[in-house]
Amino acid sequence: MSTITESFTPEQILFIESRVFDTLSQHFDYTLGTPKRRACLAKAFEASNFDALLQRAKTTSPKMINPGAALASAFPEMRKSVGLNTVHLSASDMILLQARHDDEDDNLVMARETGFTLILSINDDDPLVFDERNLDVHLSAAAHQILRDAFAAGARLVEFDQEIELSEYYPDMQADNPNDNCLKGMRCPSCGEFGAFSIETEGVDPESTFALSQGQIQAQLASGELAITRYMTTWFDDGSQETAGDTDFVADGACQCVHCQHEGVLAQFVDVV
Ligand SMILES: [Zn+2]
Repeated sequence: MSTITESFTPEQILFIESRVFDTLSQHFDYTLGTPKRRACLAKAFEASNFDALLQRAKTTSPKMINPGAALASAFPEMRKSVGLNTVHLSASDMILLQARHDDEDDNLVMARETGFTLILSINDDDPLVFDERNLDVHLSAAAHQILRDAFAAGARLVEFDQEIELSEYYPDMQADNPNDNCLKGMRCPSCGEFGAFSIETEGVDPESTFALSQGQIQAQLASGELAITRYMTTWFDDGSQETAGDTDFVADGACQCVHCQHEGVLAQFVDVV
């Protein structure tokens, strides 16, 4: 078979073997000489002779002799996958996915040392429509976007692995957080930016107090002339220019990213680490 080994790719050899084994029982005879065995091979592939068979394999492969195509019919379901580096997941995403891996009732997330594999669940009504059950409310908006994009790209498996090259299409959700003052620990869960954010704030309304000193504000608060209200205002890590007197973020209040306009509640903009 040395001639064949030199003339065919390993994939072609595999395929030929699979055909020859089938041919053996019907046509092949080990006592036959080389010319007859070659004729036998030619017959198995419906070629006029062995040289024609070789010629066909060279010119039409791998289309004609493709074990992948032959094998595909053996698998009822093919799941296309896409891969991204784990930095495109936030630290809280990583913790959540590990917890889902550990949950015996959740078989859609698998964790390994270098990353995670997510199986996208398929919509019962229409498999071509993204299944909203894939959107775990605890996952970041950035992770949700990746899952939606992966599905739209035809994937039904999403791999996150630290060995995969970083993507320029998605933010690095694990870059060091520079906020250490007003916005300590805050990061947009959608675009990964660190501020500014428009945050629901509790305090005296700056519109009605811009002409007052801190002492006057305190006095009017005490007399009831001024009241504490809630309003949206823009915050940077070093403060806000639109507040007067003491202010606090509303704990379960609204928050919006100035960069990408993503909206959510304050807690969703806070990194776990
Ligand atoms: Zn943003």
